[in-house]
Amino acid sequence: MTIKNKLRAGFGFLFLLAIACSGLSIYFLNRLSVDSSVILKDNFETIVYVRNIGIAIDETAGPLNKHQVKAIETNLVKQEHNITEIGEQQLTDSLRSKYEQLKLLENDPARQTELRKEIRGLLFGIMKLNMDAEDRKNAIAKATAGNATLLVALIGSFLFLVAFSFIINFPGYIANPIKELTERIKEISKRNYRQQLDFKSNDEFGELAQAFNNMTFKLDEYENSNLASILFEKKRIETIINSMHDGVIGLDERSSIIFVNQVACELVGIPEVSLIGRYAPDVALENDLFRNLLQADQHKMKIYADGRESYYSKEITPVMSKEKLIGKVIILKNITEFQQLDEAKTNFIATISHELKTPISSIKMSLKLLEDKRIGEINPEQRQLLENIDDDSRRLLQITGELLDMAQVETGKLNLNFGSTHPKNIVDYAVKAVKFTAEQKAVSLKVDCDDSLPEVRADLDKTTWVLINLLSNAIKYSPERSQVELQVKKLKGDDIEFSVTDHGQGIESRYLSRIFERYFKVPGSKGEHSGTGLGLAIAKDFIDAQAGKIGVESELGEGSRFYFTLKKAS
Ligand code: ADP
Repeated sequence: MTIKNKLRAGFGFLFLLAIACSGLSIYFLNRLSVDSSVILKDNFETIVYVRNIGIAIDETAGPLNKHQVKAIETNLVKQEHNITEIGEQQLTDSLRSKYEQLKLLENDPARQTELRKEIRGLLFGIMKLNMDAEDRKNAIAKATAGNATLLVALIGSFLFLVAFSFIINFPGYIANPIKELTERIKEISKRNYRQQLDFKSNDEFGELAQAFNNMTFKLDEYENSNLASILFEKKRIETIINSMHDGVIGLDERSSIIFVNQVACELVGIPEVSLIGRYAPDVALENDLFRNLLQADQHKMKIYADGRESYYSKEITPVMSKEKLIGKVIILKNITEFQQLDEAKTNFIATISHELKTPISSIKMSLKLLEDKRIGEINPEQRQLLENIDDDSRRLLQITGELLDMAQVETGKLNLNFGSTHPKNIVDYAVKAVKFTAEQKAVSLKVDCDDSLPEVRADLDKTTWVLINLLSNAIKYSPERSQVELQVKKLKGDDIEFSVTDHGQGIESRYLSRIFERYFKVPGSKGEHSGTGLGLAIAKDFIDAQAGKIGVESELGEGSRFYFTLKKAS
């Protein structure tokens, strides 16, 4: 039965019981009033009639006078119409007969007295009969009242018990399943989908349980299938990572190792099982290579693997999710092949530049000889052509020189001649070297180098080369009749800073980080076609080798400031 019908039946039953109880009460009250009214009316009237007859009989001792006869006659007739009890008819009939006899007697006082006595006896009999009846009916009325009280009390008690059990059980009947349902829903919110409701009833709660159980079954099924597909995807990603030729190591946000592929395991020489789940800095304590892997500054690594030296480039990529760091991936790319090609290229450049130097020098020598008047007069056109050849061969010599320097740096054959020297020496050499070019462009050089500055520890040739390069660039990229400032100053600590400031075209900020890269030239700049893009790269190598720092600050259209630092001589 549905809850709705159960409620209807329950309340209906209580309603019926209440109606039955009130009906019975009304019925018994009615009966009691009927019984009482019968007692009062019929029996009481008989007693009144009998008493009136008795009074009339005893009024005189002799024969009945007219008044007596009338009183007796009236009351006797009323009594004859008010027979209610068994035996009352007989007694009333006898009373009639005795009264008729007494009425007819004129002169027989003895018989009259006797008849009067018999009449009194009959009157008494009728009175007693009615009084007894009164008592009996009273008893019946009492019994009816008693029965009514008992019955109403019984029905009332039953009604009370039913209502009481209804009040006790009904809230629980509704609330208990709701409570259980709430508990199960809380479990589901904790992703615990294996929840079942066991309501056996055939009502709405039964239907609810069935629907709930179906839902949890489906959720559980979905969760399991989801899990299976997630596991499958995980397996697929692991397989992809493992089949990569690069070494891959994954760390979580607390630097614990969460995955590592076969290549990475072989490189660090630790099996996967000994790496997964471990705190990476702990592994770094035991393994030098792993320590290098975690260092952010080292990008190229030489690793001895497969019985030979191999070169790897290392890339540490932070993994972000919603702007929050959730881990890191370290990728080790085998660049041995590129390294070998690079070395071959460097050697080739070194050889070619070296081989080119001699013929270019001899061209220059021949040019010098041609200028000699003893060899023969040359006309202005020929002189112009010779000057062009001289210009080009000077540039060629510079380019081959730069290429050689770069090859030296790349092959690690850079030999530095360290010594103590005053910054003024470096400045003087450099200024002398660029003076002619500056004058040609009417660029004034403003030098600020105090004599009181301490000596620096430097390779004089290389450092002068760097300063010449910076000054040449400054002049090259400055407008005519502008000023280039060369300043040397002592920084906080032991560093001495050399800086060259121009008021030329400046450099776009997006190119600043690439300006020291090999062969890089700012696109669209004045010198894009003339230079090699090697000068600043070599300058950086020279300064790095002397443990100094080189950098640039520039504003497009405003000019640039190139600077480098050297250590104070100890
Ligand atoms: P290059 O031989 O081409 O001058 P560099 O390495 O000396 O090579 O310079 C690299 C690039 O940096 C140049 O091509 C030029 O675009 C830019 N550059 C260098 N110095 C300056 C400067 N003072 N002002 C503006 N641009 C400059």
